[in-house]
Order: sequence, then structure tokens, then C-alpha cells
Amino acid sequence: KLFNQVQEAKGNIRVFCRCRPLSKAEALAGCSTVVDFDAAKDGELGILNGGSMKKTFKFDCIYTPKDDQADVYADASPMVTSVLDGYNVCIFAYGQTGTGKTFTMEGTVEKRGVNYRTLEELFKVVKERSETFSYNISVSVLEVYNEQIRDLLVTSSTSKKLEIKQAPEGFHHIPGIVEAEVGNIKEVWDVLQAGSSARAVGSNNVNEHSSRSHCMLCVMVKAKNLINGECTKSKLWLVDLAGSERLAKTDVQGDRLKEAQNINRSLSALGDVISALANKSGHIPYRNSKLTHLLQDSLGGDSKTLMFVQISPSEKDLSETLSSLNFATRVR
Ligand code: ADP
Ligand code: MG
Repeated sequence: KLFNQVQEAKGNIRVFCRCRPLSKAEALAGCSTVVDFDAAKDGELGILNGGSMKKTFKFDCIYTPKDDQADVYADASPMVTSVLDGYNVCIFAYGQTGTGKTFTMEGTVEKRGVNYRTLEELFKVVKERSETFSYNISVSVLEVYNEQIRDLLVTSSTSKKLEIKQAPEGFHHIPGIVEAEVGNIKEVWDVLQAGSSARAVGSNNVNEHSSRSHCMLCVMVKAKNLINGECTKSKLWLVDLAGSERLAKTDVQGDRLKEAQNINRSLSALGDVISALANKSGHIPYRNSKLTHLLQDSLGGDSKTLMFVQISPSEKDLSETLSSLNFATRVR
């Protein structure tokens, strides 16, 4: 695939674009499609922007609605497994609500997403390397909502305020957050389930709430080389971002407005950080949002970043689609 060919030549930021299928309702309503995949194999995506106008965008990989979870994971796999070689890695899904961010990252029980497949592969590689390395893997599950961090693995209802601290050796961490040690995929699954049920607590509409918060899974890896005794510590973030859609003009008041401003701020901050990295700019503005501050160790330096830009094929979503593609192009 294209991804492997360009891997050496480019920096450490990749952008994959995935388009969901038309939904049944859209198909029934006779919605037209604005996405053209003719040059997808060459990494080029076409958007029919009214009449004969076609705008094109370049990406490292492009997935049509026919590509399945295994196809997508196959391309992400080299990146995620590099966390076992000591790299910090960050994978996130960006896009309008309803474009498949959660489908790509979490997936369903029948169609597992990147999160599950990643952990499954990590355990497989750990086993293969057991003669030369000993690994310790733990996970945290958290949510960032209105610039506040919430630990989704804490069982008590009295959760204290969580802050990001930097350890003397430079690593960022959140004192007090639950780090659940996991030894196999079954344990991971239980942890992920606990995380999603905690997410539902205190919100009357789970789907709405999850589209307005960033859901973040952090996989921490400690590795010991059994031959030379060398130890490394690395971190993999798997992030399902809040929906990138702009707020309807009729909705601009109260809590909704505050939520929207916070989402906007953090997504712009993420864009600013990644484009500063891509442009090799001297100052990287990590501290402008909780999201970028949390991801700091896994964005930049020799860490690896993969962004999924998720889009809808439908004409009715055209302006959000263009806005997401522009965001993704800016960071590339
Ligand atoms: P988001 O998290 O971006 O709001 P979801 O992941 O909830 O979007 O996806 C919205 C709907 O579209 C879900 O019903 C999901 O199963 C479906 N969907 C998204 N992407 C795909 C895909 N590539 N193939 C099949 N169904 C998809
Ligand atoms: Mg979602």
C-alpha cells in the first residue's frame, strides 16, 4: 500500500481519510454522493463541489465505504506496534458527528475497531518477544469535557479534580488517575466496558454527550530488554475526538455555547500543534488545551501520529466535509 512506500520519505505524521457508506435513511431519501474515489489508489480524493467543480485532496491512505475494519487496521498496525519498540504514538479520529469516528476507533463486537485490534496485536507481539523482552502494559480511560479531565475507570463517585503534571524526566502524567494493568485482551475488554458505562453515568443522552467530549484511551508500555537490562517507557494514545461540526446558529446560548467553544478551542489547538510540528516551527503550542497538553509526549519529537479524517459521502454534509478535509490538509 501507498502508506509503506511513503513511510521512509516523510515525517512522523500520517493522515488517513475514511468515508462512511450512505446510511439507509440517506439512500432511501435519494441523497446524492459528493465523493469521488477514482484516484483513491494514488492517494487522491475528489469532492464534487457543485456542478462540474471538483476539488481534490491528498492523503496517505483513502478508504472507501467498502473498505472494512481489517483493511483500515492493516495500515495502522505498523504505527501502533511501534509503541513496543519504545516510540510514543498517537492515533485520533477527527470529523463531524455521525461520520464513523467511534466506528473506526471502537467499532462494534462484530466489527472491532482500531482500539481492540491494537491491544490484541500488542499482546501477540509481546508473546512472540517473550524470550528477549519483558513487558508491562496498563491502560487508562478518560474523557475531556469542557476542558476538564474525567477518569472513566474510577469507581467512587467522589472524583477529585485531575491535573496534568510533568515528571522530572519529562513524561507527562495525571497524578491519581487509574492505570489498570492488563495481561490479556479479555482484561482490556473488561476495562473498556467499564469505561463506556462510566461515560454514560450522569448524562441523559449518551450519544450526544460522547459527541461533545474527547474519549481517550492511553496504553502505557514498560519494556525491559532481558539481554542488556535496558528499560524503556512509552505511551500510545487512542482518541475519539468530539464532533468537529459547527454549531447551528439557533443553538448559540448557555451550556451548548460553552461546550461548543471548548470543543472548537481544543480542536483548533490540536490543528495548531500538528501544523506547527509539520512545519518544523520552533514553538509548539501544547498548552493551549487539555487535549494537546495530554497528548504532548505523543505528538512531536520522534513520536508517531496518525489522524483519521472521517467524512460523510452525502451532499447534505458537503460543507462540513470540506471543512474536515481542509483541517486535515492543514496538518499534513
Ligand atoms: P461518530 O462517532 O463520528 O459520531 P459513528 O461511529 O457513531 O460516528 O457512526 C455513525 C453511524 O454510521 C453508526 O451507525 C456506524 O455504525 C455507521 N458507520 C460509520 N462508519 C461506517 C463504516 N465505515 N461502515 C459501516 N457503517 C459505518
Ligand atoms: Mg462517536
